[in-house]
Amino acid sequence: MVKIENLTKYYGIFKAVNNISFEIPDNEIIGFLGPNGAGKSTTMNIITGFLPATSGNVTVEGYNIQSQPKAAKRQIGYLPEFPPLYQDMKVKEYLKFVAGIKEVNRYMVKKQIADVMEQLKITDRADQIIKSLSKGFKQRVGFAQALLGSPKILILDEPTVGLDPSQIIEVRALIKELKKTHSVILSTHILQEVEAVCDRVIIIAEGEIRANNTMEELTSMAGKNPVITISVDGARTPVVNLIKSAEGFISLINIEQIEHNVYEYKIEVKGENTRKDLLKKLVIADFNVRQVSIETANLEEIFVKLSSPKEKKSNIQKLRDIAKEYEETEEDTNA
Ligand code: ADP
Ligand code: MG
Repeated sequence: MVKIENLTKYYGIFKAVNNISFEIPDNEIIGFLGPNGAGKSTTMNIITGFLPATSGNVTVEGYNIQSQPKAAKRQIGYLPEFPPLYQDMKVKEYLKFVAGIKEVNRYMVKKQIADVMEQLKITDRADQIIKSLSKGFKQRVGFAQALLGSPKILILDEPTVGLDPSQIIEVRALIKELKKTHSVILSTHILQEVEAVCDRVIIIAEGEIRANNTMEELTSMAGKNPVITISVDGARTPVVNLIKSAEGFISLINIEQIEHNVYEYKIEVKGENTRKDLLKKLVIADFNVRQVSIETANLEEIFVKLSSPKEKKSNIQKLRDIAKEYEETEEDTNA
C-alpha cells in the first residue's frame, strides 16, 4: 500500500503538482490518467524517491520515502518514462548491475535474473547488446529491471508509449499477470489503456486530481447523463443563453462552427425532457434548427471534460473575452 498525502511540487515558481492525495491499495491496478503535462511523471518520480516533494508525504508499506528512503525504495519497482538502460551493456550484464544496486541477496541474484528474463521472454536475448534491441525488447528489459528485488509495488510510467499494437497487447497482458502478485500504478494519456487493464482510475489534470473512481463508477457516471448535439443557424450568444436556460441543462461541452453562421453545440443534460424544452425555446425564438440528436455520454467525453483546463482566467484572457463578446454582439446586430 502506498499513501500519498497533500503532495505539492514546484519547479521554480511553477506548480506542477497541487496538493494531491490518493492511495495505491494492494493487488489493484490503478490507472493514472491525464493529458501531457498533467503532472504524472512528476508524481511518480516523487513516489519513487527520485525527486523531492516541495511539501506533502509519501509512505510506501509504512516507510516514509523521505526519511526512510532505502526501506521504502526496496518495496518499489519503477519503470520510468525513459528507462535508464545502459545501451552498451548486454542484457544480462545490465540486470546483474541493477541487482547489485538493489542489493539483491547475492545467492539469489542468478535465480532472480533467470526468473525475470523468463517472465519477460528475453532469456534468448541475455547476451545481446541493449542498443541493438528493438523498442519492444528494450521495454521488456525495462520491465525486468523493475521486477528485480521482488518489489511489492510496481510504478509504470506510460509503459506502452512507442510500442506497436501487438507489443501493446503483450505488455497489457503482462501487467494483468503482474497484478496477481503486485500493486500496480501505471500512467497513461490514453483512456483505452485504462479501460483495458485498470480497476480504478485517477484522473489528473493541471497538477490536480479531478476524479478517483472505479471503472464501474466511471462507466455509470458516463451512462447517466445524455448528450444532445444540436446545430442551429445564427449567432452563438443568444443560442447559448437559450441552451443554458433549458430544463435539465448541465453543461455546454463544446461549440463548433460547421458553416458560416451555423454552430453545433454539444450539451450535457439530465434527461430526455431537455431536448423537448430546448427545441420549444429555440422555435419560439425563431431559430432554425438544422439537426438534433441525443446520445448517452461515453467515457471519452467524461474524460475530456474532467481533464480539460479549468477556468482560471488571467486579466488578459478576461479582456480578450470581453472583446470577443463585443465582436459577437456586432455579428448579432448584422445578422
Ligand atoms: P506528465 O508526465 O503528466 O506529462 P510532467 O510531470 O512530466 O507531466 O510535467 C508536469 C509539468 O511540469 C509540465 O508542465 C512540465 O512542463 C513541467 N516540468 C516537468 N519537469 C520539469 C522540470 N524539471 N523543470 C521545470 N518544469 C518541469
Ligand atoms: Mg510523463
